[in-house]
Amino acid sequence: MRVLGVEGTAWCASAAVHDTETDETLIESDAYEPESGGIHPREAAEHMGDAIPRVIETALDRSGGDIDAVAFSRGPGLGPCLRVAGTAARALAGTLDVPLVGVNHMVAHLEIGRHEAGFDSPVCLNASGANAHLLGFHDGRYRVLGETMDTGVGNAIDKFTRHLGWSHPGGPKVEEAAKDGEYVDLPYVVKGMDFSFSGLMSAAKDAVDCGEPVENVCFSLQEHVFAMLTEVSERALSLTGSDELVLGGGVGQNARLREMLAEMCEQRGAEFYAPEPRFLRDNAGMIAVLGAEMAAAGDTIPIAESAIDPNFRPDQVPVTWREGESV
Ligand code: ATP
Repeated sequence: MRVLGVEGTAWCASAAVHDTETDETLIESDAYEPESGGIHPREAAEHMGDAIPRVIETALDRSGGDIDAVAFSRGPGLGPCLRVAGTAARALAGTLDVPLVGVNHMVAHLEIGRHEAGFDSPVCLNASGANAHLLGFHDGRYRVLGETMDTGVGNAIDKFTRHLGWSHPGGPKVEEAAKDGEYVDLPYVVKGMDFSFSGLMSAAKDAVDCGEPVENVCFSLQEHVFAMLTEVSERALSLTGSDELVLGGGVGQNARLREMLAEMCEQRGAEFYAPEPRFLRDNAGMIAVLGAEMAAAGDTIPIAESAIDPNFRPDQVPVTWREGESV
């Protein structure tokens, strides 16, 4: 089966073709880069309008051959962006006369790691721009075991770098600056299985404003944020008894986060898997891969019922495509 995936939840206009025979996935992406500040929903949607037809055409041209289903991100994400990508996917499914598959973007972020690692029932840490949560599969759904009480982890870092006047996205710049930094104390906020970033980011901004070298603040910001995520990931493994952890989301490209998670897993005898970067940041490859599994399970959606959902939570999705053990 060959499935076309379409992704357009926020900044990344992307199309991909996944072939289930070869397990190959061709991805074509075009990123929106704000001239100043963070992601402006209207500008991002204009980018989608411009780039989505182009990436779809290129992905189809480069992959060749017929398409058996069209999968798209129904949410969560920015409404104006989701509407553009959703409209393109519906039009294409209708024109090609193939089934349409509505994919939850956050479930796709974690399923790509499970698919690649071949794990049965992992705990999943989604560390993306607008989200941060731990998920475990139980009784037919991915349950939220712990999550941010305020902003997503990438958005928190991006807000800090906006304060510094750095361009979007801030995460890679913080990672680079942190290489020359030393530790300073910042707030560490974990409450049970949940965590919070806003006080930590305010303290980081204050530290820079009060003259702390920016490299030290970047280093410490990473140490605190990633230690919080690692602590809750470990607790999720312990609570569920799972010995598999997968990482998803754009912040997962950070080497220090991966190092902390890998070390924690090694110490407790668990396996850790982080997908390659092209599958961590937003991309249509993960939508096509999960879309193919859903289509094979008959989990398709009539066009008339395929409205987007900007607040689509992962625990709203009945998992129709797998039989794995519950954690
Ligand atoms: P979501 O998937 O929740 O909708 P999103 O659309 O913002 O989030 P992602 O591609 O998952 O997209 O993540 C983008 C985020 O990843 C940005 O906030 C960016 O700063 C962050 N990021 C990218 N590279 C790194 C890095 N090396 N270190 C830390 N953060 C990073």
